[in-house]
Amino acid sequence: MTTVSVPDVRTLESQHVLQTYRRQPVVFERGEGTRLIDDRGRAYLDFVSGVGVASLGHAHPALTRAISEQAATLIQTSNLYFHRLQGELAARLSALTGLERAFFCNSGTEAVEACLKFARRYWFTRGETARTRYVAFSHAFHGRTMGSLSVTWDEHYRAPFAPLIPGVAFAATDDPAALDSLVDGSTAAVIVEPIQGEGGVRPITPALASAIASACRRTGALLIADEVQTGSGRTGAFLASPALGLSPDLVALGKALGAGVPVGTAMISRDVAATISAGDHGTTYGGNLLACRAALVFLDELEGGLLAAIPGLSAHLFGRLRDLAARHPRAIVDVRGAGLMAGLECAADAAPIIGAALERGLLVNRTATTVVRLLPPYIVTEREIDEAVATLDQVFSEGARR
Ligand code: PLP
Repeated sequence: MTTVSVPDVRTLESQHVLQTYRRQPVVFERGEGTRLIDDRGRAYLDFVSGVGVASLGHAHPALTRAISEQAATLIQTSNLYFHRLQGELAARLSALTGLERAFFCNSGTEAVEACLKFARRYWFTRGETARTRYVAFSHAFHGRTMGSLSVTWDEHYRAPFAPLIPGVAFAATDDPAALDSLVDGSTAAVIVEPIQGEGGVRPITPALASAIASACRRTGALLIADEVQTGSGRTGAFLASPALGLSPDLVALGKALGAGVPVGTAMISRDVAATISAGDHGTTYGGNLLACRAALVFLDELEGGLLAAIPGLSAHLFGRLRDLAARHPRAIVDVRGAGLMAGLECAADAAPIIGAALERGLLVNRTATTVVRLLPPYIVTEREIDEAVATLDQVFSEGARR
């Protein structure tokens, strides 16, 4: 392995890496549990967890052991052959989601792409070839490949890449009644995030959820739940949709499921799966042994106690965040989220809060300009939650003095 000196890390990045990210001024070298350690040996409490990915924290012993062992045995064989782990993972995900089949891929956006394609394939197989449209929502984020970008709301992401796939309508999340006129016999699928993550940690309302369920029932449109961020236990249940009364036909999973190893999965109902044939979709890496092994370890840990602990941790987190908002009523205007997914809506751009928290050794990130988002690993403790909120308290207090 070549090693470059730390100043060179940033120079090389700025000269040769495509500049699609604005990075914080820190170089991380390793992780331990809920902490990341930078090149100077300073530890940071990680409430970003690789944007909702490091569900087991960093360097988790069981995950490290399993993927090291797997790497020393077999990583990738392609989908031209059987291996032992895909079926096992699919069966466990099927039991957890109530959806019969899994399609494995490598990221959230790929899981969404798969769901969009399978929804069209369903109607095509049934002879309704004109039923190709999608309904998505204001503030939605579903990824950045061409299909998922087409159902992503923000013009800033969309405009430079037009034309996107045609036939997408966006319904306002705050106007459930309007859904009736947008979902009709030409709608292949409605796609929704139970809590809009990148859009600012915005839970959809029970009224919207019930309008979605009834529009799908009325027209037969399929329902795709994008649970890339909310799923895999993040909100305290394996999926967030059922608590909203939603029974999706397709579910996109990613992020936390691989605990750091890239894993995306589309879960598919029996009826939709029955319309899909060999060759309809595929990916070289999807469901490889390393990815499946990581996801299986994640599920073992999740079902072995982590999931059951999330509601308690969540109550603690949201209790503390509400106290924080009460202490800083001018700076924090709303606290939103569920489980271990929280957003503080700020009265102004949240970027200075993110930077000041980093300086104090806490990682949180900004979404939708004004929202401070917290996505701690599932192994977080109440003490670490207290520590994170105490740091935010200092940051907001300092902001108020400026
Ligand atoms: N869908 C949702 C709800 C997401 O939050 C994201 C990523 O933030 C994606 C899809 C895209 O996932 P990925 O970045 O793994 O492609």
